[in-house]
Amino acid sequence: MSFEGELQRIKDQIISHLPADIKVKKIEFEGPEIAVYSENENLNLIESSDILKELAKTMRKRVVFRWNAEKRKDPSETEDYIRNLIVEGAEISNIEFDHTRGEVIIESVKPGLVIGKKGVNLKEIRMNTFWQPKTIRTPPLESRTIGLIRGMLKKERQNQKDILLNIGKRIHRPAIFKDLDIRLTSLGGFREVGRSCILMQTRDSSILLDVGLNVGNKNDPFPNFDIPEFSIRDLDAVIVSHAHLDHCGMVPFLFKYGYKGPVYCTLPTRNLSTMLQLDFVQICEKEGKPGPYSKRDVKSAVLHTIPLSWGKVTDIAPDIKLTLHNSGHILGSSIIHLHFGKGGFNFIYTGDFKYQKTRLLEKAAVKFPRVEALLIESTYGGPQDRIPSRQDSERDLRQILNSTIKRGGKILIPVLAVGRAQELIIVLEEFISKGIIDHVPIFLDGLISEATAIHTANPDFLSSDLREKILHQGKNPFLSDFFTTISSQEERNDVILGGPCIILATSGMLIGGPSVQYLRRLAEDKKNSLVFVSYQVNGTLGSRVQRGFREIQYTNEKGRTQLIKLNINIFTLEGFSGHSSRSQISQFLRRIQPRPKLVICNHGEESKCVSLSTMIHKKLRKATKAPRNTETLSLK
Ligand SMILES: [Zn+2]
Repeated sequence: MSFEGELQRIKDQIISHLPADIKVKKIEFEGPEIAVYSENENLNLIESSDILKELAKTMRKRVVFRWNAEKRKDPSETEDYIRNLIVEGAEISNIEFDHTRGEVIIESVKPGLVIGKKGVNLKEIRMNTFWQPKTIRTPPLESRTIGLIRGMLKKERQNQKDILLNIGKRIHRPAIFKDLDIRLTSLGGFREVGRSCILMQTRDSSILLDVGLNVGNKNDPFPNFDIPEFSIRDLDAVIVSHAHLDHCGMVPFLFKYGYKGPVYCTLPTRNLSTMLQLDFVQICEKEGKPGPYSKRDVKSAVLHTIPLSWGKVTDIAPDIKLTLHNSGHILGSSIIHLHFGKGGFNFIYTGDFKYQKTRLLEKAAVKFPRVEALLIESTYGGPQDRIPSRQDSERDLRQILNSTIKRGGKILIPVLAVGRAQELIIVLEEFISKGIIDHVPIFLDGLISEATAIHTANPDFLSSDLREKILHQGKNPFLSDFFTTISSQEERNDVILGGPCIILATSGMLIGGPSVQYLRRLAEDKKNSLVFVSYQVNGTLGSRVQRGFREIQYTNEKGRTQLIKLNINIFTLEGFSGHSSRSQISQFLRRIQPRPKLVICNHGEESKCVSLSTMIHKKLRKATKAPRNTETLSLK
């Protein structure tokens, strides 16, 4: 069947579900969704009836209803109406009209008050203005990245609509083959940590799960795009599990080389990934070496990104449906569930996951409709990888902070901008406000403050108690004035020359950035402490220091090599990790519903992938595999 034929078939099916008096003006693809335009006032009733549910059930497609441009009220009248309707406490900061889609976008400090009880306000707006209201949150901390993305999307609305139309056409093309023939090819991140990239293919479609960059490996930083199985032209979709560079760092590279398809991830993952990619471009520029992509490619990636919420089933190819679930690793991080064919085969990719509740996030999801094969991370998959409990690590941190402060030292904690930094911000805020440690200044350097601002824009993805605190008790640890952002070299000097303090700085693995600058200046003083709280990838300075190196070499501004002795006290607190320990991985595998038949291990050093896969085979009696990069497995 042709594409037009398929569209007509979908149109007929939708019309057959609608009340007779509703006249459909036009039907359009909008990425994975189908938009129905009408002039009929009763369109409102559809939202509250069972028609949408029926459509979703019988057609297995998501349908949105919109009014024709002629029907919609004048924008300035609509704006007045909305401002009159919504209580002042909602603090509306902006109202904008998307004429290409018939949406009115209401930005406010408290979107809950804009929505109203059970969505009553949104309904009123629809009934009286014939615009579809959409609410967004003004971040309580200003985020440059979110400002940039929102500005870009506003400017490129028509462009984005065209992009979504083309994506929709591709998704809804009819499938040709009956046999699925599902194959998994490892492009990167197998028997190693870094450059995660997995190619999933059926006879009809081809998708990538994560497109990462290995910042610790100068010789081989990119996924193996050059193997014959991979072709950018055949790619239907890219799905990003979470916003760490080893999972999202090479997405813009695909756009540089002609990819025009969608990127699926959660909203915070889109915002945080964009922040990291732009920062990466800037670092390459600063170091005077050509990066793998430019700002323009990052922008393309944003325009092609379709944010999804957890639990929403989405068509991404003629024979593949995608659902994202919480993975408990960082804000917006997701377990990826793929459903192939009609009831055919189900596949789960955990990405990086934590099967334990943390201060920031709920623990990873374990209930799924169906699972046949599971791809699981092995970062801490070795028999020795017992991670101490969070409580123990918090107690150890308290002791290190107290003793260092007492002897007049400074504490340097290198952190990834996204994830560990915010976990520590919450812990440190509590330590100081409860008087558990002395009230010394806490400095945030690098991308941390920007990443934290993005956290404040997406409270829906935080753990239930933190969300409750922020949204209903008005207590937001991220806004605490215990923290000071450092943004210039002079300020950095003041910190180094000043009194006892705590410094959270990027990069988390000491591969450049302010954390290395601080280390050079603080390393020789025995009073100071260096605390690792996150995984140190092989080949990074962080990993060498952790393994016992007590001297660091670097080239100073005058081009001379300088040697620094590390007299600083060095600690590792694994309990703050965002990854599951070996026993948490086991627990996850025992609790997951339903049980997969095949478990594939990736994202870990060679010995850990192999050891975890052996353990799962022996103890949990499952078929397991620990493939190497560029290997292909046939799943069905
Ligand atoms: Zn990660």
